[in-house]
Amino acid sequence: MSLTTTLKSLLPERLHGPLKEAAYRATSFLYAGDRYECVFCGGRFKKLLPRGLSYGVLVDQHVVGGGIRDNAFCPRCLSYDRERLVYLYLKNETDLLRRPAKVLHVAPERQLLKVLRRHPDFQVTTGDLFCKTVDVKLDVTAIQFADHTFDLVLCNHVMEHVPEDRKAMREILRVLKPGGIAMLQTPISLKMAATDEDLGDIPESERIRRFGQKDHCRIYAQADYPQRLRECGYEVELFRWWETPGHYGGKDNRSALNAEEVVFVCRKPVA
Ligand SMILES: [Zn+2]
Repeated sequence: MSLTTTLKSLLPERLHGPLKEAAYRATSFLYAGDRYECVFCGGRFKKLLPRGLSYGVLVDQHVVGGGIRDNAFCPRCLSYDRERLVYLYLKNETDLLRRPAKVLHVAPERQLLKVLRRHPDFQVTTGDLFCKTVDVKLDVTAIQFADHTFDLVLCNHVMEHVPEDRKAMREILRVLKPGGIAMLQTPISLKMAATDEDLGDIPESERIRRFGQKDHCRIYAQADYPQRLRECGYEVELFRWWETPGHYGGKDNRSALNAEEVVFVCRKPVA
């Protein structure tokens, strides 16, 4: 581990919000370079920080977005690879950031939320079941908003925590306007033939061993996750950013995206 990585690791993991951002910003010069450029803060870096967990199942089952990976976390603005990808997808592949829109952002990623909040014609509502700094307390399996309310629902890295994930998927579909989009990114196995889940009352140690995190109910398989979403009523498209040169930092991955992360674009049918 390098000196700079060691220095970063000394910052308390639970140092939250503006204080944490200020601490990172103050030391981000240690990463200065021109290999990568953050789409949120514009910082240029020789490398970004590694992020992810090192539990065996995440490596063994090739879990994208779960296991430890290099260049995942911006040393200045603290954005994750997955929120940079979602932002670039919305910006480049949809018109959602260029027109008025109502947005529900569940378990909001900080930098992605800042971009949405800056949009003059956006009505953004943030929600979470546990976090206190959001607009509304929100249970994704019983959403308190009317049918056809939102143009966009962002709910990334949530479904793997929710026992009744299909109910949550249907609830999000219900509150989307026809033609609206949900982003339901999740850690996902490229190796497993089928999603592995256990909704029973199993100990944390068993969840870590089997699902790679103490509060996860499952590991989704890329082989069947889209089908689960389709069965809940979505039109699902798999978008592979590396097949679209230019906007995503090109083949040298200048935006420091996860090289294997597919975007699961979940659209509510119009008819
Ligand atoms: Zn940044």
